[in-house]
Amino acid sequence: MQELERLLGRERCLSGPGQLVAYECDALTHFKSVPVAVALPQTTEEVQEVVRACVRLGVPFTPRGAGTGLSGGAIPAPGGIVIELSLMKSILVVDVENRLAVVQPGVVNAHLSTEVGEHGLAYAPDPSSQIVCTLGGNVAENSGGPHCLKHGATTNHILAMRCVMPDGEIMDLGSPVAGGSAGLDLRGVMLGSEGTLGIVTEITCRLVPMPERVETLLATFDTMAAACSSVSKIIAAGIIPSALEALDDRTIAAVEASVFRAGYPADATAVILVELDGHPAQVAAERRRIEAIFQDVGAIGIEAAKDADHAQALWKGRKGAFGAMGRLAPDLYVQDAVVPRSKLPEVLPRIGEICDELGLQLANVFHAGEGNLHPNISYDGRNAQEVERVVEAGRRIIDLCLSVGGALSGEHGIGLEKQGFMHLVFSADDLETMSRVRAAFNPGELLNPGKVLPTPGACAEVKPLHQLPGAPS
Ligand SMILES: Cc1cc2nc3c(=O)[nH]c(=O)nc-3n(C[C@H](O)[C@H](O)[C@H](O)COP(=O)(O)OP(=O)(O)OC[C@H]3O[C@@H](n4cnc5c(N)ncnc54)[C@H](O)[C@@H]3O)c2cc1C
Repeated sequence: MQELERLLGRERCLSGPGQLVAYECDALTHFKSVPVAVALPQTTEEVQEVVRACVRLGVPFTPRGAGTGLSGGAIPAPGGIVIELSLMKSILVVDVENRLAVVQPGVVNAHLSTEVGEHGLAYAPDPSSQIVCTLGGNVAENSGGPHCLKHGATTNHILAMRCVMPDGEIMDLGSPVAGGSAGLDLRGVMLGSEGTLGIVTEITCRLVPMPERVETLLATFDTMAAACSSVSKIIAAGIIPSALEALDDRTIAAVEASVFRAGYPADATAVILVELDGHPAQVAAERRRIEAIFQDVGAIGIEAAKDADHAQALWKGRKGAFGAMGRLAPDLYVQDAVVPRSKLPEVLPRIGEICDELGLQLANVFHAGEGNLHPNISYDGRNAQEVERVVEAGRRIIDLCLSVGGALSGEHGIGLEKQGFMHLVFSADDLETMSRVRAAFNPGELLNPGKVLPTPGACAEVKPLHQLPGAPS
């Protein structure tokens, strides 16, 4: 602590119990571990100094953005510190001609689009947490968002980055020139590495032009199966909307009772929210085809947003859905498995059965176009038995999704939550290769230890979430 204060001054080192408790978990509240201190650097060089001090003293360190991660990635190791990047929030360069921006990692996702909006540009990846989460966290998680269906996830929008490596060296990865590509793609390796290979301190990202025309449609269904079959049919017809999202009746009820109220139909069992963007003629043609598909599969209502305010209200409901569920119970567990979208009608009722059998409160809101499910289980973390049942539901949902050809995570990462499941999708050789990559970047494993990869020798065993490192005893 003295060393941190010497480097950053008292103001930018937190050590009081009341300050540190705010860092004991991220948005997955299953795991808790209080850091011994929190460092708040403002420059790459300060991050470098803090990292060098940690290496000298043998103290583990974990980078953190806004702490909205949903897999326990920003939780410190026992005896470790947190390096919070939120004070590094400057937009350093907006290069309108080349449609690029260079930003510090603590820039909040939505602030970048607001800042470049006056130039008719935007930063495309839009996690639902975008008014809070940071671009550094987005890079570390390779985050997605409703509009990533057409525009691609974070990796498609990051050209280059500056990183402080676990030994304190500064490295530039990728090429800041759009279209530049030479040598091994170390940028790609760092992206999505969940803060285990380096600390990102500067990011060069692409900006996209605002579309000429945007249309938002809301289709109402009396079964989730019909809603999901419309999703497969839209994609199979060769249409890629900019967003294609689904909400079930319980999510609708939670949203409509909250400050995120969007005016969703109260009698719907499911709604599909679609956004189309592009040239006006193309948008009009796609809208006609999508409306025909909705009618074919038996939509009971199709509504188009009347104007930009109406469209914004519909999106506010979708993006505020997790927040709205805060009304239902003190804690929320968000699963993030993925299935082939054609399997959605089969998988969703089975997830409902799993939660019914375990007596759990489920609500679904998800990136339907990508088959990226978000079963949300509302529960009370103070009730140990209920936590056990939530953990069991998570395990069964993963088994189910993998059994139909799905994947462990769409966008929330592995963190602490899913490392015990990695052996279900990766062979021992795959995991060994990943461990070697990590060891090449992070040989002493002082940077964010114990995340993503299972502990060697333990991968055959799926440990309940609350027994994994960092979990409360
Ligand atoms: C309401 C809600 C809605 C969400 N919606 C979405 C969504 O639509 N799509 C989606 O993908 N995710 C979503 N998330 C998850 C989360 O917001 C994202 O994972 C986000 O990218 C995390 O950013 P953060 O700044 O909060 O990072 P943190 O939670 O602070 O950290 C996440 C990980 O990144 C690492 N990290 C942070 N900063 C750096 C850095 N500068 N260098 C290296 N590593 C770093 C941390 O160590 C940790 O492993 C949602 C979360 C919530 C609570």
